[in-house]
Amino acid sequence: MQDLTEGVARFQRDVHPAKAELFAHLATTHRPTTLFIGCSDARVVPELITQSEPGELFVIRTAGNLVPAHAPGPDAVAAGIEYAVAVLGVRGIVVCGHFSCGAMTALAERHDLTATPAVADWLRHADAARARASASASAAEGEVSALVRENVRAQLANLATHPSVARALAQHTLTLSGWVYDIPTGTVEEVDPAGRPPVPAG
Ligand SMILES: [Zn+2]
Repeated sequence: MQDLTEGVARFQRDVHPAKAELFAHLATTHRPTTLFIGCSDARVVPELITQSEPGELFVIRTAGNLVPAHAPGPDAVAAGIEYAVAVLGVRGIVVCGHFSCGAMTALAERHDLTATPAVADWLRHADAARARASASASAAEGEVSALVRENVRAQLANLATHPSVARALAQHTLTLSGWVYDIPTGTVEEVDPAGRPPVPAG
């Protein structure tokens, strides 16, 4: 934990004082504009990729950026989505996948997951994406990249089954976006929910 405590000391000494006004404002204000749903992968850092300040992004990170479809019962992801949309009133939701994703690689390459049963169960939420990717992947694209893109599409569809999201979409107060981040180049491509070819997001 040595690295982290040194980081905290540096944050308090150098970073926090430089943004003292912002942090004072944020003490009583929580109005993020965007819900960012990304992979838990340590290399995919939402605030860094989007150059966002504290207070701007409400973030949910799960293994494989999976969003279970709405179902009864306690669910941390569903609670986070509902809070962001219905209480905080975010105007946009981004589901961000990434190339070199361990979860998508394990599925596309059919790794043996019997030693990690919780991971295996969780990744079932990518079943629809996996079925579409294995049916449609071209040789040039490769099955892992196809699955990364299809998975973002599938999770956008799952997202829309959540009542708070469905309501906001019907009222035209919310937009959904799908992104795929590439670690070595830093590029972000936009995934079209309808499956049209990818375009750079910025
Ligand atoms: Zn990942």
